Amino acid sequence: SFNMAKSKFEYVRNFETDDTCLRNCYIVVRLDGRNFHKFAEQHNFTKPNDNRALGLMSRSARSVLEEMEDIVIAYGQSDEFSFVFKRSSTWFKRRASKLMTHVTSQFSSSYVFYWKEFFGEKPLLYPPSFDGRVVLYPSNRNIKDYLSWRQADCHINNLYNTVFWTLVQRGGLTTAQAEDRLKGTLAADKNEILFSEFDINYNKESDLYKKGTTLIWEKRDETVTKRLMLPNKEEKDVSVTRSRRRVETYHCDIIGEQFWEEHQDILED
Ligand code: ATP
Ligand code: ATP
Ligand code: MG
Ligand code: MG
Ligand code: MG
Ligand code: MG
Repeated sequence: SFNMAKSKFEYVRNFETDDTCLRNCYIVVRLDGRNFHKFAEQHNFTKPNDNRALGLMSRSARSVLEEMEDIVIAYGQSDEFSFVFKRSSTWFKRRASKLMTHVTSQFSSSYVFYWKEFFGEKPLLYPPSFDGRVVLYPSNRNIKDYLSWRQADCHINNLYNTVFWTLVQRGGLTTAQAEDRLKGTLAADKNEILFSEFDINYNKESDLYKKGTTLIWEKRDETVTKRLMLPNKEEKDVSVTRSRRRVETYHCDIIGEQFWEEHQDILED
């Protein structure tokens, strides 16, 4: 715009530092809700897992995939979501701050924009925010291990939270007593408490809670019926099939190799 480029103030641009992401690496942007422990309490989230909140997180992540270029997979649980850009991406010249802020602000504004679709008349009490970070992973093994780490975290937290809230809600313990009871317990002990004291088989809990949410792009054939006007002014219905790219949602294991074998186009060689 007019003369700004030539002003004597122009030199201040040189204070900007280069944050180009190393080439050939997967770029991960992970965001996490700020102080969502409190946000969950103030909006009466169901414990341990509020389906509305999980649905809204997924919906917001979908909006990120649909609006940003080059994201090949996203994984989310609790108040966090990770977005993986393909290693060959040149979006925003791979500038870390641009990628991170675009992802995080698209997500945050979607969270507010779609709130009503999930929470209905329940009012949003204040504007929520999310932090973002960028991490680079140079190999396919590293990026799979990154996603495995997040999914393992989901499992560990969900097992803990499921027992904790069962002890409180059904066992009549105070939160302090439940915390005490679980101190030092291993996964097997937690499964055992659920099974022998509450008749709950943890394996039968919802995969949405145990596995989190994975979003990927998939090609699907879509058939639509179109009404054509023939030259003689007659109308005719014809079906047209075309392959469309759309975001698909999974609540499945991504730690084992099966998922990656079934979706070989996600990662590059
Ligand atoms: P980019 O994504 O690269 O930032 P952009 O379209 O946002 O692209 P900017 O250089 O940031 O480009 O310019 C913002 C534009 O938004 C302005 O050129 C103007 O057209 C419009 N705009 C912003 N604020 C106002 C406003 N208050 N009134 C009218 N137009 C506005
Ligand atoms: P920080 O700002 O450091 O991230 P935080 O309070 O957001 O602090 P987290 O470790 O991110 O801490 O944990 C998020 C918390 O949000 C969970 O511990 C849980 O209390 C709550 N939460 C998030 N999503 C849900 C959900 N779907 N159902 C119930 N509670 C949820
Ligand atoms: Mg945290
Ligand atoms: Mg948080
Ligand atoms: Mg978190
Ligand atoms: Mg602009």
